[in-house]
Amino acid sequence: MRVSASEKKALRQFLPADLNTNSWEELEPWFEQLANRELNSLTDLEQWMRDADELESALSEAFAWSYIRSSCDTNNEEFEKAYTHLVSQIEPKCAPWFDKFRHKLNNSPFVSGISRDFGIYLKTVQNDIAIYREENIAILAEIDQLRQQYAKISGEQMVTLDGEEMTIVKAFNGLKNPDRQKRLETFEAIWKRRGEDREKLDDLFDTLTAKRQQVARQAGFSNFRDYMFVALSRFDYTAEDCFTFHDAIAQELVPVLAEMDHLRREKLNVDKLRPWDLDADTSGKPALVPFQGGDDLLEKSIRCLERVNPRHASFLRTMREMGHFDLDSRKGKAPGGYNYGLAETGVPFIFMNAAGSHRDVVTMVHEAGHAIHSFLMNPLPTNPLRNPPSEVCELASMAMELITMEHWDVFYPNPDDLKRARIEQLDKLLRTLCWVATVDAFQHWIYENENHTREERSTSWDNIYTRFESPVIDWSGHEEKRYAFWQKQLHIFEIPFYYIEYAMAQLGAIAVWRNYKTNPELALQHYEAALSLGNTRSIGEIYQAAGIRFDFSSTWIKELAQFVKAEINQLS
Ligand SMILES: [Zn+2]
Repeated sequence: MRVSASEKKALRQFLPADLNTNSWEELEPWFEQLANRELNSLTDLEQWMRDADELESALSEAFAWSYIRSSCDTNNEEFEKAYTHLVSQIEPKCAPWFDKFRHKLNNSPFVSGISRDFGIYLKTVQNDIAIYREENIAILAEIDQLRQQYAKISGEQMVTLDGEEMTIVKAFNGLKNPDRQKRLETFEAIWKRRGEDREKLDDLFDTLTAKRQQVARQAGFSNFRDYMFVALSRFDYTAEDCFTFHDAIAQELVPVLAEMDHLRREKLNVDKLRPWDLDADTSGKPALVPFQGGDDLLEKSIRCLERVNPRHASFLRTMREMGHFDLDSRKGKAPGGYNYGLAETGVPFIFMNAAGSHRDVVTMVHEAGHAIHSFLMNPLPTNPLRNPPSEVCELASMAMELITMEHWDVFYPNPDDLKRARIEQLDKLLRTLCWVATVDAFQHWIYENENHTREERSTSWDNIYTRFESPVIDWSGHEEKRYAFWQKQLHIFEIPFYYIEYAMAQLGAIAVWRNYKTNPELALQHYEAALSLGNTRSIGEIYQAAGIRFDFSSTWIKELAQFVKAEINQLS
């Protein structure tokens, strides 16, 4: 059922429907009321949790809209001002109160009586208490504002190809051009433009890392990585486990990638495989054209989901009716794509930069997976239970990429195109797993080696990059561009350490897809059952409910890599 934001506000039990979340004067009494309320029974505590959740949800939704508005229009000063006001004026004032709430909950004599479903949430609360420092609030707010700088700098990057000025996202389509010379021109244009901002981004990153390390030290950690493992509530694995995972990827996946690249080189009939040869179709055909514009992309995605599960399609229709999509790429829009869950409305928003490519289809079904997850969690009673860790969230989205792939004929009625799209998906999937290991290993290095110079950073990046890249690719003459390659990864700037989850979830997604190919109905049942659990169970338990394993051993990676390879061979 479709319930608008204002209708939802009218359903509030505790806060007034017209509460102005931009005004601290209006907000403060509600914080005070909650902090000072006496809790004399389990019922009192439960009611208090619901009320606190209402306040947190209202604020979270206000932040969400402000972020969405400014990412849709990075040049709009009013939106920027509004966002800045929230992160620099409101959020820092809320933080000490939320800390009080956490203590109040954790210290309540009735806490042992609340539902077992809150077990994981309580552990997160205890982590938050452990890392909270009053003196970090201002720095965290500064970091939040600096993050926007990255979006701004990369959102402004335009290149001119064949006389046409376009966003870098759009220019990437040129790397699919069957004409090798054109691909090289595109590659050079993109990296020349990015090169112009290299120093600016280096400056920004230096400032960000220094502030992050300061936050970590003030919270009693020796580095920001260790701080983030606690902040991200990584209960199920350690930094050591990540290193083991990197090793397994280097050992099991890089050779598969190399094999595929040898084949690619042969098919393209080139002497050496160059970095601008990786996206071109090996049969020399032009880029796939799956849709025309954002509306068409959405319509086709809904049709595709209809075949997976009509209920999932209806979720996207609800979002469309409510205007919760901004899909087309344009100047002044932040890069990337996201699904933003709206805590109060319960209907998420999808943002992306569609420019007509196959990658956009993948982004769309990926974000749709997140959106479906949001809807499936709506029956859970409160918001803390609807916030599972990203290892679970990305399972929802990445599994949806592979499940929908079985129905991509909606986008590609021509069987040859369909085959190409599927091979590309699986090829990218293997590359992504290696790229994730690269980005993750790099971030470990960054924060373990606090006093590095820019040059050391470049060298370290290059060593790590080379370790996880297929050795078939020849960069000679373009190494300089490779040194700054990490700057294209938004996560390194905006959401540090939120990356390895993609690889863990990718493995899970392959396993879900393997199940779907054997028994679609049962696999979907498991998928829904797992996602509906929200944050009420551990990652391992949720993966188990999905009919798969949370495992990143060499053996498991090998098994799944062989499955993917067999699928590629079948398509080739
Ligand atoms: Zn995602």
